[in-house]
Amino acid sequence: MAKYVGAIDQGTTSTRFMLFDHSGSVVTSHQLEHEQIFPKAGWVEHDAEEIIRRTQQVIDGAMKKAGARATDLSAVGITNQRETTVVWDKNTGKPYYNAIVWQDTRTGDIVNRLSQNGGADRFRDKTGLPLSTYFSGTKLVWLLENVNGLREAAERGDALFGTIDTWLIWNLTGGVGDGIHVTDVTNASRTLLMDLKTLNWDNEILAELDIPRQMLPEIRASSVRNPYGTIKAGGIADGAVLTSILGDQQAAVFGQTCYSPGEAKNTYGTGNFMLLNTGTEIVQSRHGLLTTLGYKISDEPAVYALEGAIAVTGSLVQWLRDNLNIINTAPDVENLARTVKDNGGIYFVPAFSGLFAPYWRNDARGVIVGMTRYVNKAHLARAALEATAYQTREVADAMYKDSGVEVKALKVDGGMVYNELLMQFQADILGVPVVRPVVSETTALGAAYAAGLATGFWSNTEELRNNWQVSNRWNPDMDENTREELYRNWKRAVERTFNWVE
Ligand code: ADP
Repeated sequence: MAKYVGAIDQGTTSTRFMLFDHSGSVVTSHQLEHEQIFPKAGWVEHDAEEIIRRTQQVIDGAMKKAGARATDLSAVGITNQRETTVVWDKNTGKPYYNAIVWQDTRTGDIVNRLSQNGGADRFRDKTGLPLSTYFSGTKLVWLLENVNGLREAAERGDALFGTIDTWLIWNLTGGVGDGIHVTDVTNASRTLLMDLKTLNWDNEILAELDIPRQMLPEIRASSVRNPYGTIKAGGIADGAVLTSILGDQQAAVFGQTCYSPGEAKNTYGTGNFMLLNTGTEIVQSRHGLLTTLGYKISDEPAVYALEGAIAVTGSLVQWLRDNLNIINTAPDVENLARTVKDNGGIYFVPAFSGLFAPYWRNDARGVIVGMTRYVNKAHLARAALEATAYQTREVADAMYKDSGVEVKALKVDGGMVYNELLMQFQADILGVPVVRPVVSETTALGAAYAAGLATGFWSNTEELRNNWQVSNRWNPDMDENTREELYRNWKRAVERTFNWVE
């Protein structure tokens, strides 16, 4: 009898493999970082081959730690950094170019060009997304236009496109000759190329972007009883079946067991991503959110979500650490911030790469407003943490306006949720409780859940819900006037970021 389900969690800064048991507890984990490549301001790349090496290393590392064999695995699931784009040669397995990472803004001109004819929302009805540098489609256009010989190779059928899930599966299932070329609906919904209703690539958009359809993978469900493939990569897990793929934020929805319409989670990592389950209904956003796939289990109907994506939250803490050197480690920000009682009148809007939800402004850049001779580095630390909470409030407000659903308690996860000051301030600014589950590795857990549901390791989502337990809860403790005054000032600060890039 299989004892575990494995999850490959390929994130923006690191890759890990985790094993979970039937209670949803972590059995073991092995994690490795990979290089962040910054060729120019605004450009962010990863070496796609390094990502494969790290993936194989972490799988073997975790399997060894647990003393596990492939037969101990009921299934393996994949969750991944979304939108990051790879193109490779199916005959050699070599990427044509580094992976272009979701944060990369090099496609600004392509976005402007495409927006001229019909505006930034021209594909929104079909895809749920505005035109933005964020999504894979414009990154693929850039590659086709800038990598020598790629267009010809794509037309010949030699060049394959994939988001990271697709690149991983192709390699893990044998690569050249054998590799399976698939993706799931959640990853496909971040390309700007998939129709939310048909769950298929949209020929009209492909024609408009001049993307050869034969480059694109087959789109399947997020949890499949008929596996995508079997691992064949020369490692300890060879022979295990791959039965789930979920983009990282959708995986967190799954791991937080937000299976009913109206349930939401917010992940605090490099950026913040709040997703609200809207059930089988496609809710178009009128307030700056994205409409996206939540997940699709086998042949059940697809479940959709509204998403508020915020580009800079935890990475602002990294910026305080690496660029200002006012803290040594990210968690130090809390102690520094606690040395002052409030923000000293300053607001820090980290529009480092423009603003994502709910504004979608490429022309915005960061500001710190309200500076006086009184302000010190602790106020800066506090303002940086508060920025995460205000941005989350803006997204929560937009969700309410779009869906009419008032979030009653916010389920949170991610690296920043160990910051007590931030979590309390978040509850204060939202005016609703914030709750953190015992297993906070919800991304990997979600991929494992989706994989294990497919093989019968878990029988249904009710069983998964029962595994979810509260670890911490923060209740709002701020008077209404203070809350609204702070939030009003934040909104004024945001206005100061607009129209900066000409
Ligand atoms: P990702 O999955 O996006 O790589 P994680 O969920 O691992 O991110 O979270 C890491 C982020 O959280 C980093 O940007 C880091 O600056 C921030 N972070 C980690 N611990 C804390 C903390 N105690 N307080 C504030 N920020 C933190």
